[in-house]
Amino acid sequence: MSGSDDNVSDPNSVPTSVPGEFSIIENLFAPLAGEGAFALQDDAALFTPTPGQQLVLTKDAIAEGRHYLAGDPPGDVARKLLRVNLSDLAAKGATPRGYLLSCAWSETTSYEWMAAFAAGLAADQKQFGVELLGGDTIKAAGPSVFSLTAIGDVAAGKMVLRSGARPGDDLWVTGTIGDGALGLLAARGELDFLSASDKDYLVQRYRVPEPPVSFGKELSGLASAALDVSDGLLGDLGHLCRSSEVGAKIRQESIPVSSATNACVVTRPDRWAPILSGGDDYQILFAAPVAKREAISSTAVSTGTTVTRIGELTVDAKIAVLDAAGKPVDVSSTGFTHF
Ligand code: ADP
Ligand code: MG
Repeated sequence: MSGSDDNVSDPNSVPTSVPGEFSIIENLFAPLAGEGAFALQDDAALFTPTPGQQLVLTKDAIAEGRHYLAGDPPGDVARKLLRVNLSDLAAKGATPRGYLLSCAWSETTSYEWMAAFAAGLAADQKQFGVELLGGDTIKAAGPSVFSLTAIGDVAAGKMVLRSGARPGDDLWVTGTIGDGALGLLAARGELDFLSASDKDYLVQRYRVPEPPVSFGKELSGLASAALDVSDGLLGDLGHLCRSSEVGAKIRQESIPVSSATNACVVTRPDRWAPILSGGDDYQILFAAPVAKREAISSTAVSTGTTVTRIGELTVDAKIAVLDAAGKPVDVSSTGFTHF
């Protein structure tokens, strides 16, 4: 077999016609295979769990034309596929260990596209410390569909659940909120009043999210409940509140936004709607007792993550968004439906 990273990432070194399934596996995916995967030359991988740890399993699929656009860079598509799964592991306090990948390529997918897809995975494997353990490779009847199962581990009994938050707990969020949803609007040409650099920033955040994987590894000692923000801040807050049987008060002013998102809402305050209820952020929303504030801040510093306190949990089973003067904001126009 061939198969250094160089071969994988150099589009000039691969043929233009699409070779068979076994050649794709051997040339593009075997170089990504980790310990226990037998270089993808056996039927299955062997995974040895660390004593005292439990496995955390999650799966997400993305489809051409639905979760990414046919013209998107293939390396970005692969990285988004991996990252939307790493975000679920991070929100559960887990450390990513490996993943299984299923590729259903459309008839029109070129070998260059596949090679660039594999190169995107290679880059993220290095960044996040995960390895490929196996998968499946088939031809799709229609557009391409990719599915990835991520495997993480966490100390036994320590996975962070959606339930477990208490009234009085602080509500925190990592990173910035809104970039993913506004990035999709920017990619569709709906934010042309923004500068080119702001638009590029937002589109890139939509294509390649930045889940807080290092911070996630430390979450189990800090959070009483957590989930990743994939469906929108208010909707996901609703999931946490329902599971924990609490309500929440959040301050709109304290929701952390990037400078590009800020530039957007300064011009168009109606763009708060996709920030509050759009999706694709892949940050962590978590609850934690007030006594954990210092530990959370120092963990954020040591892991290079930004964290922001956006509100608190309440006994009343409802969600209120407050403006700077403490008045409730009408969120019905955001498309947010009350749980
Ligand atoms: P089988 O037909 O016996 O299920 P396959 O030919 O599908 O086996 O796969 C052979 C090996 O290659 C297996 O170890 C499988 O996990 C791996 N594999 C196949 N496709 C992929 C892929 N897209 N990514 C990673 N590993 C893959
Ligand atoms: Mg087999």
